[in-house]
Amino acid sequence: MNLRIRTFFIISSLFTIGCANGQNGGTISDDDPETSQAYAEAFLQANARGLAILNKAWQAHGDIADSSLVVALTIEVKEGIHRSQSLVVDPPYERYHLENRFFIDRKNGIEVGHFMNRFAGFDFVNIIITDDEASRDYNVLTKKYTDATSSGFDNFRYFPHPYINAALARPQHVCYEGSVDYKGKVVNRIFAGGGSSARRLYFDAEEGRLLRVEYLRNNEPYGDGVSFKDFSNFEKFGPLTLPQVIASGGNYSAGGEVVNRFELRAIDPVVNRPTHEQMIGFAPADYSQVVKNQLTELGNNIYMIENITESMEGDDYNVMFAVFEKFILVGEAPVNAATSEKVLRHIRSVSDKPIKYLVQSHHHNDHWGGIRTYIAEGATIITTEGNAAILIRIASAPSVLNPDRQSEDPKPLSIDLVTERLQMNDSANAALIYDVGPTNHAIEMLIVYFPEQGLLWQADLISYGEWDLNDPRSDHLLNKIKSLNLKVKKIAGVHGQIFEGEELQKWLSK
Ligand SMILES: [Zn+2]
Repeated sequence: MNLRIRTFFIISSLFTIGCANGQNGGTISDDDPETSQAYAEAFLQANARGLAILNKAWQAHGDIADSSLVVALTIEVKEGIHRSQSLVVDPPYERYHLENRFFIDRKNGIEVGHFMNRFAGFDFVNIIITDDEASRDYNVLTKKYTDATSSGFDNFRYFPHPYINAALARPQHVCYEGSVDYKGKVVNRIFAGGGSSARRLYFDAEEGRLLRVEYLRNNEPYGDGVSFKDFSNFEKFGPLTLPQVIASGGNYSAGGEVVNRFELRAIDPVVNRPTHEQMIGFAPADYSQVVKNQLTELGNNIYMIENITESMEGDDYNVMFAVFEKFILVGEAPVNAATSEKVLRHIRSVSDKPIKYLVQSHHHNDHWGGIRTYIAEGATIITTEGNAAILIRIASAPSVLNPDRQSEDPKPLSIDLVTERLQMNDSANAALIYDVGPTNHAIEMLIVYFPEQGLLWQADLISYGEWDLNDPRSDHLLNKIKSLNLKVKKIAGVHGQIFEGEELQKWLSK
Protein backbone atom coordinates (compact mmCIF):
# COMPACT_ATOMS: atom_id res chain seq x y z
CA MET A 1 0.00 0.00 0.00
CA ASN A 2 1.23 3.39 -0.99
CA LEU A 3 1.87 5.43 2.13
CA ARG A 4 0.67 8.66 0.58
CA ILE A 5 -2.73 7.17 -0.23
CA ARG A 6 -3.06 5.87 3.27
CA THR A 7 -2.16 9.25 4.77
CA PHE A 8 -4.60 10.95 2.47
CA PHE A 9 -7.34 8.59 3.53
CA ILE A 10 -6.77 9.33 7.18
CA ILE A 11 -6.86 13.07 6.68
CA SER A 12 -10.00 12.96 4.58
CA SER A 13 -11.79 10.53 6.84
CA LEU A 14 -11.23 13.04 9.63
CA PHE A 15 -13.11 15.50 7.49
CA THR A 16 -15.99 12.97 7.33
CA ILE A 17 -16.02 10.83 4.19
CA GLY A 18 -12.76 9.53 2.75
CA CYS A 19 -11.88 9.96 -0.90
CA ALA A 20 -13.13 7.02 -2.97
CA ASN A 21 -14.65 5.66 0.20
CA GLY A 22 -17.93 4.85 -1.53
CA GLN A 23 -16.26 2.66 -4.14
CA ASN A 24 -14.55 0.21 -1.84
CA GLY A 25 -16.78 0.25 1.20
CA GLY A 26 -14.27 2.19 3.25
CA THR A 27 -11.99 -0.68 4.15
CA ILE A 28 -8.34 -0.76 3.24
CA SER A 29 -6.18 -3.71 4.01
CA ASP A 30 -2.47 -4.02 3.43
CA ASP A 31 -2.89 -7.81 3.43
CA ASP A 32 -5.47 -7.93 0.64
CA PRO A 33 -3.93 -7.00 -2.73
CA GLU A 34 -7.33 -6.94 -4.47
CA THR A 35 -8.79 -4.39 -2.08
CA SER A 36 -5.66 -2.27 -2.32
CA GLN A 37 -5.78 -2.40 -6.10
CA ALA A 38 -9.46 -1.43 -6.22
CA TYR A 39 -8.80 1.40 -3.84
CA ALA A 40 -5.87 2.70 -5.89
CA GLU A 41 -7.96 2.66 -9.07
CA ALA A 42 -10.86 4.45 -7.43
CA PHE A 43 -8.48 6.99 -6.05
CA LEU A 44 -6.88 7.66 -9.43
CA GLN A 45 -10.32 8.16 -10.97
CA ALA A 46 -11.35 10.53 -8.21
CA ASN A 47 -8.07 12.39 -8.63
CA ALA A 48 -8.51 12.84 -12.40
CA ARG A 49 -12.07 14.06 -11.99
CA GLY A 50 -11.06 16.51 -9.26
CA LEU A 51 -8.32 17.97 -11.42
CA ALA A 52 -10.76 18.39 -14.32
CA ILE A 53 -13.14 20.32 -12.04
CA LEU A 54 -10.33 22.58 -10.87
CA ASN A 55 -9.22 23.33 -14.41
CA LYS A 56 -12.76 24.13 -15.45
CA ALA A 57 -13.08 26.48 -12.45
CA TRP A 58 -9.88 28.26 -13.37
CA GLN A 59 -11.45 29.11 -16.73
CA ALA A 60 -14.85 29.91 -15.21
CA HIS A 61 -13.40 32.77 -13.16
CA GLY A 62 -11.91 34.64 -16.06
CA ASP A 63 -9.39 34.93 -18.76
CA ILE A 64 -6.08 33.56 -17.54
CA ALA A 65 -4.32 34.25 -20.81
CA ASP A 66 -3.82 37.92 -20.00
CA SER A 67 -0.78 37.72 -17.78
CA SER A 68 -0.36 41.50 -17.48
CA LEU A 69 -3.73 41.99 -15.89
CA VAL A 70 -4.23 44.10 -12.76
CA VAL A 71 -7.79 44.50 -11.52
CA ALA A 72 -8.65 47.10 -8.87
CA LEU A 73 -11.64 46.59 -6.61
CA THR A 74 -13.16 48.14 -3.55
CA ILE A 75 -14.12 45.72 -0.86
CA GLU A 76 -16.89 46.96 1.32
CA VAL A 77 -17.36 45.13 4.56
CA LYS A 78 -21.11 45.17 4.95
CA GLU A 79 -21.54 43.07 8.04
CA GLY A 80 -18.27 42.85 9.87
CA ILE A 81 -18.72 41.41 13.33
CA HIS A 82 -16.16 41.90 16.07
CA ARG A 83 -16.38 38.44 17.49
CA SER A 84 -12.79 38.36 18.66
CA GLN A 85 -12.78 41.99 19.82
CA SER A 86 -16.45 42.31 20.76
CA LEU A 87 -17.83 44.21 23.75
CA VAL A 88 -19.81 41.18 24.90
CA VAL A 89 -19.07 37.48 24.61
CA ASP A 90 -22.46 36.36 23.25
CA PRO A 91 -24.30 37.62 20.16
CA PRO A 92 -25.59 40.04 19.05
CA TYR A 93 -22.14 41.53 18.39
CA GLU A 94 -21.56 45.08 17.29
CA ARG A 95 -21.20 45.39 13.55
CA TYR A 96 -18.85 47.54 11.59
CA HIS A 97 -18.70 48.95 8.12
CA LEU A 98 -15.44 49.35 6.23
CA GLU A 99 -14.17 50.09 2.79
CA ASN A 100 -10.87 48.66 1.66
CA ARG A 101 -9.03 48.79 -1.63
CA PHE A 102 -8.06 45.60 -3.35
CA PHE A 103 -5.95 44.68 -6.39
CA ILE A 104 -5.73 41.38 -8.20
CA ASP A 105 -2.35 41.44 -9.90
CA ARG A 106 -2.13 38.52 -12.29
CA LYS A 107 1.18 39.67 -13.70
CA ASN A 108 2.94 39.11 -10.36
CA GLY A 109 0.58 36.37 -9.21
CA ILE A 110 -0.45 38.31 -6.14
CA GLU A 111 -3.38 39.97 -4.44
CA VAL A 112 -2.83 43.30 -2.73
CA GLY A 113 -5.22 44.47 -0.04
CA HIS A 114 -5.18 47.96 1.48
CA PHE A 115 -6.86 47.91 4.85
CA MET A 116 -7.68 50.96 6.90
CA ASN A 117 -9.59 49.60 9.85
CA ARG A 118 -10.51 50.96 13.22
CA PHE A 119 -12.24 48.87 15.84
CA ALA A 120 -12.10 48.10 19.55
CA GLY A 121 -10.09 51.28 19.98
CA PHE A 122 -7.29 50.05 17.67
CA ASP A 123 -6.14 51.43 14.34
CA PHE A 124 -4.93 49.01 11.71
CA VAL A 125 -3.49 50.52 8.57
CA ASN A 126 -2.00 47.62 6.67
CA ILE A 127 -1.22 46.48 3.19
CA ILE A 128 -1.36 42.72 2.88
CA ILE A 129 0.18 41.03 -0.13
CA THR A 130 -0.57 37.39 -0.72
CA ASP A 131 0.57 34.91 -3.30
CA ASP A 132 -0.30 31.25 -3.55
CA GLU A 133 2.04 30.24 -0.76
CA ALA A 134 2.42 33.01 1.75
CA SER A 135 1.29 36.44 2.83
CA ARG A 136 3.24 39.48 3.98
CA ASP A 137 1.79 42.17 6.19
CA TYR A 138 3.06 45.73 5.61
CA ASN A 139 2.37 48.12 8.48
CA VAL A 140 1.83 51.51 6.86
CA LEU A 141 2.27 53.37 10.16
CA THR A 142 5.70 51.89 11.02
CA LYS A 143 6.82 51.10 7.44
CA LYS A 144 7.80 47.61 8.56
CA TYR A 145 6.65 44.29 7.23
CA THR A 146 6.27 40.85 8.73
CA ASP A 147 5.50 37.48 7.18
CA ALA A 148 2.21 35.93 8.16
CA THR A 149 2.06 32.32 9.29
CA SER A 150 0.73 29.57 7.06
CA SER A 151 -2.48 29.43 9.09
CA GLY A 152 -3.06 32.96 7.84
CA PHE A 153 -3.62 31.65 4.30
CA ASP A 154 -7.38 31.54 4.65
CA ASN A 155 -7.57 34.75 6.67
CA PHE A 156 -6.12 36.97 3.98
CA ARG A 157 -7.63 35.49 0.84
CA TYR A 158 -10.81 36.92 -0.49
CA PHE A 159 -11.19 35.44 -3.98
CA PRO A 160 -11.55 31.99 -5.54
CA HIS A 161 -8.27 32.10 -7.48
CA PRO A 162 -5.79 31.32 -4.69
CA TYR A 163 -7.83 28.33 -3.54
CA ILE A 164 -7.99 26.87 -7.05
CA ASN A 165 -4.29 27.57 -7.52
CA ALA A 166 -3.30 26.07 -4.17
CA ALA A 167 -5.22 22.89 -5.00
CA LEU A 168 -3.67 22.64 -8.48
CA ALA A 169 -0.20 23.14 -7.01
CA ARG A 170 -0.56 19.77 -5.22
CA PRO A 171 -2.26 17.65 -7.87
CA GLN A 172 -1.52 14.38 -6.08
CA HIS A 173 -3.68 15.57 -3.16
CA VAL A 174 -6.80 16.32 -5.23
CA CYS A 175 -9.81 14.08 -4.98
CA TYR A 176 -13.40 14.23 -6.24
CA GLU A 177 -15.84 13.39 -3.46
CA GLY A 178 -19.09 13.33 -5.38
CA SER A 179 -21.90 15.71 -6.20
CA VAL A 180 -24.15 17.08 -3.50
CA ASP A 181 -27.06 19.45 -3.18
CA TYR A 182 -25.90 22.80 -1.89
CA LYS A 183 -28.33 25.70 -1.46
CA GLY A 184 -30.63 24.23 -4.11
CA LYS A 185 -27.83 23.67 -6.64
CA VAL A 186 -25.98 20.60 -7.76
CA VAL A 187 -22.37 21.08 -6.81
CA ASN A 188 -19.24 19.02 -7.27
CA ARG A 189 -17.27 18.60 -4.13
CA ILE A 190 -13.56 17.98 -4.10
CA PHE A 191 -11.03 17.56 -1.35
CA ALA A 192 -7.58 19.05 -1.88
CA GLY A 193 -4.31 19.48 -0.07
CA GLY A 194 -3.00 18.02 3.14
CA GLY A 195 -2.14 19.18 6.63
CA SER A 196 -2.88 22.87 7.19
CA SER A 197 -3.69 23.32 3.50
CA ALA A 198 -6.41 20.62 3.45
CA ARG A 199 -9.66 22.08 2.19
CA ARG A 200 -12.99 20.98 0.79
CA LEU A 201 -14.13 22.96 -2.25
CA TYR A 202 -17.64 23.20 -3.69
CA PHE A 203 -18.03 23.99 -7.39
CA ASP A 204 -21.16 24.85 -9.31
CA ALA A 205 -21.63 21.72 -11.51
CA GLU A 206 -22.94 23.77 -14.43
CA GLU A 207 -20.91 26.99 -14.38
CA GLY A 208 -17.81 25.54 -12.79
CA ARG A 209 -17.35 28.39 -10.30
CA LEU A 210 -16.09 27.97 -6.77
CA LEU A 211 -18.99 28.53 -4.35
CA ARG A 212 -17.63 27.48 -1.00
CA VAL A 213 -14.40 26.60 0.78
CA GLU A 214 -14.33 24.65 4.02
CA TYR A 215 -11.31 23.88 6.11
CA LEU A 216 -10.75 22.20 9.43
CA ARG A 217 -9.03 24.29 12.03
CA ASN A 218 -8.39 24.18 15.71
CA ASN A 219 -9.42 27.68 16.71
CA GLU A 220 -8.07 27.90 20.22
CA PRO A 221 -9.69 27.86 22.71
CA TYR A 222 -12.90 26.85 20.87
CA GLY A 223 -11.46 23.56 19.65
CA ASP A 224 -11.75 21.75 16.33
CA GLY A 225 -14.28 23.02 13.84
CA VAL A 226 -15.03 23.77 10.24
CA SER A 227 -14.35 27.30 9.04
CA PHE A 228 -15.90 28.42 5.78
CA LYS A 229 -15.88 31.00 3.05
CA ASP A 230 -18.91 31.39 0.77
CA PHE A 231 -18.74 33.04 -2.65
CA SER A 232 -21.91 34.30 -4.33
CA ASN A 233 -23.43 36.94 -6.65
CA PHE A 234 -20.85 36.50 -9.41
CA GLU A 235 -20.17 39.48 -11.65
CA LYS A 236 -17.68 40.36 -14.31
CA PHE A 237 -14.93 42.66 -13.06
CA GLY A 238 -13.01 43.45 -16.19
CA PRO A 239 -12.05 40.10 -17.65
CA LEU A 240 -12.45 38.26 -14.33
CA THR A 241 -15.61 36.69 -12.97
CA LEU A 242 -15.61 37.22 -9.22
CA PRO A 243 -18.05 36.85 -6.36
CA GLN A 244 -19.55 40.17 -5.26
CA VAL A 245 -20.35 38.73 -1.87
CA ILE A 246 -17.79 36.86 0.23
CA ALA A 247 -18.99 35.59 3.60
CA SER A 248 -16.87 33.81 6.18
CA GLY A 249 -17.28 32.26 9.61
CA GLY A 250 -16.58 29.20 11.68
CA ASN A 251 -16.61 27.71 15.15
CA TYR A 252 -14.69 30.72 16.49
CA SER A 253 -17.98 32.59 16.29
CA ALA A 254 -20.75 31.54 18.62
CA GLY A 255 -22.98 29.18 16.69
CA GLY A 256 -20.65 29.19 13.69
CA GLU A 257 -22.46 32.09 12.02
CA VAL A 258 -21.11 34.39 9.33
CA VAL A 259 -18.78 36.90 10.97
CA ASN A 260 -17.71 38.79 7.88
CA ARG A 261 -19.65 39.69 4.79
CA PHE A 262 -17.68 41.52 2.13
CA GLU A 263 -19.23 43.15 -0.88
CA LEU A 264 -17.19 44.14 -3.91
CA ARG A 265 -17.38 47.09 -6.21
CA ALA A 266 -15.19 47.57 -9.25
CA ILE A 267 -13.51 50.96 -9.20
CA ASP A 268 -11.13 50.47 -12.04
CA PRO A 269 -11.63 47.04 -13.57
CA VAL A 270 -8.34 47.02 -15.44
CA VAL A 271 -5.58 49.11 -13.91
CA ASN A 272 -2.56 47.52 -15.54
CA ARG A 273 0.09 49.14 -13.44
CA PRO A 274 2.47 47.33 -11.14
CA THR A 275 1.25 46.99 -7.57
CA HIS A 276 4.67 46.31 -6.08
CA GLU A 277 5.84 49.90 -6.47
CA GLN A 278 3.70 50.96 -3.54
CA MET A 279 5.87 48.99 -1.15
CA ILE A 280 9.09 50.92 -1.71
CA GLY A 281 10.59 52.18 1.56
CA PHE A 282 9.35 49.30 3.68
CA ALA A 283 11.90 47.28 5.66
CA PRO A 284 11.62 43.96 7.41
CA ALA A 285 10.74 44.50 11.03
CA ASP A 286 13.78 43.99 13.27
CA TYR A 287 12.81 42.69 16.66
CA SER A 288 16.26 41.50 17.74
CA GLN A 289 16.38 44.13 20.50
CA VAL A 290 12.95 43.30 21.86
CA VAL A 291 12.76 41.60 25.25
CA LYS A 292 11.54 38.04 24.69
CA ASN A 293 10.18 35.42 27.02
CA GLN A 294 11.86 36.98 30.06
CA LEU A 295 11.00 36.43 33.71
CA THR A 296 10.89 39.76 35.57
CA GLU A 297 10.11 40.39 39.25
CA LEU A 298 7.32 42.98 39.54
CA GLY A 299 7.41 43.10 43.34
CA ASN A 300 7.74 40.81 46.33
CA ASN A 301 6.21 37.44 45.29
CA ILE A 302 4.91 38.78 41.96
CA TYR A 303 6.44 37.97 38.58
CA MET A 304 5.79 38.77 34.96
CA ILE A 305 6.89 36.84 31.90
CA GLU A 306 7.53 39.56 29.36
CA ASN A 307 6.72 38.99 25.72
CA ILE A 308 6.01 35.30 26.24
CA THR A 309 5.10 34.93 22.55
CA GLU A 310 8.51 36.39 21.54
CA SER A 311 6.58 38.44 19.05
CA MET A 312 7.03 41.77 17.39
CA GLU A 313 6.80 45.15 18.97
CA GLY A 314 3.19 46.16 19.52
CA ASP A 315 2.04 42.58 19.41
CA ASP A 316 3.52 41.25 22.65
CA TYR A 317 1.82 39.34 25.44
CA ASN A 318 2.88 39.37 29.07
CA VAL A 319 1.64 37.01 31.77
CA MET A 320 1.73 37.69 35.51
CA PHE A 321 1.86 35.24 38.39
CA ALA A 322 1.73 35.83 42.13
CA VAL A 323 2.98 33.41 44.76
CA PHE A 324 0.80 33.07 47.85
CA GLU A 325 1.48 30.96 50.95
CA LYS A 326 -0.04 27.77 49.55
CA PHE A 327 -0.86 28.50 45.93
CA ILE A 328 -0.16 30.49 42.80
CA LEU A 329 -2.44 32.95 41.03
CA VAL A 330 -1.88 33.58 37.31
CA GLY A 331 -3.00 36.67 35.44
CA GLU A 332 -4.19 35.98 31.85
CA ALA A 333 -3.97 32.99 29.49
CA PRO A 334 -3.16 34.61 26.14
CA VAL A 335 -2.81 33.22 22.61
CA ASN A 336 -2.83 29.42 22.87
CA ALA A 337 -2.06 26.30 24.88
CA ALA A 338 1.59 26.30 23.76
CA THR A 339 1.97 29.77 25.31
CA SER A 340 0.44 28.53 28.57
CA GLU A 341 2.91 25.62 28.60
CA LYS A 342 5.76 28.14 28.37
CA VAL A 343 4.25 30.08 31.28
CA LEU A 344 4.03 26.91 33.38
CA ARG A 345 7.73 26.24 32.83
CA HIS A 346 8.56 29.74 34.12
CA ILE A 347 6.28 29.29 37.12
CA ARG A 348 7.92 25.96 37.96
CA SER A 349 11.35 27.63 37.89
CA VAL A 350 10.14 29.81 40.79
CA SER A 351 7.72 27.68 42.78
CA ASP A 352 6.14 24.21 42.84
CA LYS A 353 2.95 25.35 44.59
CA PRO A 354 -0.33 24.43 42.88
CA ILE A 355 -1.83 26.92 40.42
CA LYS A 356 -5.11 27.55 42.17
CA TYR A 357 -6.43 30.56 40.26
CA LEU A 358 -6.31 32.10 36.83
CA VAL A 359 -7.64 35.65 36.65
CA GLN A 360 -8.96 36.33 33.17
CA SER A 361 -9.24 40.04 32.34
CA HIS A 362 -11.80 39.70 29.55
CA HIS A 363 -13.14 37.37 26.86
CA HIS A 364 -11.25 38.41 23.71
CA ASN A 365 -9.90 35.42 21.77
CA ASP A 366 -6.26 36.46 21.91
CA HIS A 367 -6.50 36.91 25.69
CA TRP A 368 -7.93 33.51 26.56
CA GLY A 369 -6.62 31.28 23.77
CA GLY A 370 -4.52 29.38 26.36
CA ILE A 371 -7.21 29.02 29.04
CA ARG A 372 -7.72 25.26 28.58
CA THR A 373 -4.26 24.53 29.99
CA TYR A 374 -5.29 26.10 33.32
CA ILE A 375 -8.60 24.22 33.36
CA ALA A 376 -6.55 21.03 32.91
CA GLU A 377 -4.22 22.17 35.72
CA GLY A 378 -7.26 22.21 38.00
CA ALA A 379 -7.13 25.99 38.45
CA THR A 380 -10.31 27.92 39.23
CA ILE A 381 -10.98 30.53 36.54
CA ILE A 382 -11.75 33.92 38.04
CA THR A 383 -13.97 35.72 35.55
CA THR A 384 -17.24 37.60 35.19
CA GLU A 385 -20.80 36.32 34.84
CA GLY A 386 -21.08 36.93 31.09
CA ASN A 387 -18.29 34.47 30.35
CA ALA A 388 -19.62 31.50 32.33
CA ALA A 389 -21.62 29.79 29.56
CA ILE A 390 -18.95 30.00 26.87
CA LEU A 391 -16.27 28.76 29.28
CA ILE A 392 -18.30 25.55 29.73
CA ARG A 393 -18.21 25.11 25.95
CA ILE A 394 -14.48 25.87 25.83
CA ALA A 395 -13.67 23.39 28.61
CA SER A 396 -15.36 20.53 26.74
CA ALA A 397 -14.43 21.50 23.15
CA PRO A 398 -12.99 18.62 21.08
CA SER A 399 -9.33 19.24 20.29
CA VAL A 400 -8.06 16.30 18.24
CA LEU A 401 -6.26 18.50 15.71
CA ASN A 402 -4.27 20.24 18.39
CA PRO A 403 -4.19 18.02 21.45
CA ASP A 404 -3.63 19.87 24.71
CA ARG A 405 -3.69 18.92 28.38
CA GLN A 406 -7.46 19.33 28.54
CA SER A 407 -8.08 16.95 25.62
CA GLU A 408 -5.61 14.38 26.94
CA ASP A 409 -6.68 14.48 30.58
CA PRO A 410 -9.86 16.57 30.87
CA LYS A 411 -10.72 18.27 34.17
CA PRO A 412 -14.07 19.75 35.15
CA LEU A 413 -14.38 23.50 34.83
CA SER A 414 -14.24 25.45 38.07
CA ILE A 415 -15.07 29.15 37.97
CA ASP A 416 -15.40 31.97 40.48
CA LEU A 417 -17.44 34.94 39.32
CA VAL A 418 -16.49 38.45 40.37
CA THR A 419 -19.46 40.75 40.65
CA GLU A 420 -17.77 43.82 42.04
CA ARG A 421 -14.76 42.78 44.04
CA LEU A 422 -13.04 39.58 45.09
CA GLN A 423 -10.41 39.51 47.79
CA MET A 424 -7.80 36.92 48.68
CA ASN A 425 -5.01 37.15 51.19
CA ASP A 426 -2.78 34.99 53.32
CA SER A 427 0.52 35.43 55.15
CA ALA A 428 2.51 35.70 51.91
CA ASN A 429 0.43 37.88 49.60
CA ALA A 430 -2.84 39.75 49.08
CA ALA A 431 -4.83 40.61 46.00
CA LEU A 432 -8.01 42.52 45.22
CA ILE A 433 -9.79 41.75 41.96
CA TYR A 434 -12.25 44.32 40.58
CA ASP A 435 -14.66 44.38 37.68
CA VAL A 436 -13.95 47.82 36.18
CA GLY A 437 -16.52 47.46 33.39
CA PRO A 438 -18.28 48.60 31.41
CA THR A 439 -15.43 49.91 29.26
CA ASN A 440 -15.39 50.77 25.55
CA HIS A 441 -13.20 47.70 25.00
CA ALA A 442 -15.27 45.05 26.78
CA ILE A 443 -18.35 45.38 28.99
CA GLU A 444 -16.92 43.14 31.70
CA MET A 445 -13.25 43.61 32.60
CA LEU A 446 -11.21 42.50 35.58
CA ILE A 447 -8.11 44.12 37.03
CA VAL A 448 -5.93 42.80 39.88
CA TYR A 449 -4.53 45.10 42.54
CA PHE A 450 -1.82 44.02 44.97
CA PRO A 451 -2.00 46.50 47.86
CA GLU A 452 1.29 45.53 49.55
CA GLN A 453 3.31 46.03 46.38
CA GLY A 454 1.18 48.90 45.01
CA LEU A 455 0.96 46.96 41.77
CA LEU A 456 -1.93 47.09 39.35
CA TRP A 457 -2.30 44.33 36.71
CA GLN A 458 -4.61 44.96 33.76
CA ALA A 459 -5.17 44.21 30.09
CA ASP A 460 -6.03 46.40 27.11
CA LEU A 461 -6.74 49.50 29.19
CA ILE A 462 -3.24 50.91 29.19
CA SER A 463 -0.26 49.76 27.18
CA TYR A 464 2.74 51.76 28.32
CA GLY A 465 5.30 52.40 25.61
CA GLU A 466 2.86 51.36 22.91
CA TRP A 467 -0.27 53.50 23.15
CA ASP A 468 -0.89 57.13 23.74
CA LEU A 469 -1.52 57.69 27.48
CA ASN A 470 -4.50 59.84 26.51
CA ASP A 471 -6.36 56.86 25.04
CA PRO A 472 -10.00 56.81 26.26
CA ARG A 473 -9.46 53.31 27.65
CA SER A 474 -6.57 54.58 29.78
CA ASP A 475 -8.71 57.51 30.96
CA HIS A 476 -11.32 54.98 32.04
CA LEU A 477 -8.71 53.06 34.05
CA LEU A 478 -7.44 56.27 35.65
CA ASN A 479 -10.97 57.17 36.78
CA LYS A 480 -11.37 53.71 38.28
CA ILE A 481 -8.05 53.95 40.13
CA LYS A 482 -9.24 57.23 41.62
CA SER A 483 -12.75 56.09 42.51
CA LEU A 484 -11.48 52.85 44.09
CA ASN A 485 -8.77 54.85 45.87
CA LEU A 486 -5.98 52.45 44.83
CA LYS A 487 -2.45 53.45 45.86
CA VAL A 488 -0.69 52.54 42.65
CA LYS A 489 3.12 52.56 42.38
CA LYS A 490 3.42 50.37 39.31
CA ILE A 491 1.16 49.31 36.44
CA ALA A 492 1.87 46.23 34.36
CA GLY A 493 -0.30 44.55 31.81
CA VAL A 494 -0.74 41.98 29.11
CA HIS A 495 0.62 44.40 26.50
CA GLY A 496 3.40 46.96 26.78
CA GLN A 497 6.04 47.78 29.34
CA ILE A 498 6.05 48.42 33.07
CA PHE A 499 4.69 51.88 33.91
CA GLU A 500 6.20 53.40 37.08
CA GLY A 501 8.14 56.28 38.58
CA GLU A 502 7.64 59.97 37.97
CA GLU A 503 5.76 59.55 34.73
CA LEU A 504 3.23 57.26 36.39
CA GLN A 505 2.73 59.69 39.29
CA LYS A 506 2.22 62.52 36.81
CA TRP A 507 -0.38 60.47 34.91
CA LEU A 508 -2.13 59.52 38.16
CA SER A 509 -2.50 63.17 39.14
CA LYS A 510 -3.91 64.10 35.72
ZN1 LIG B 1 -9.12 42.94 24.27
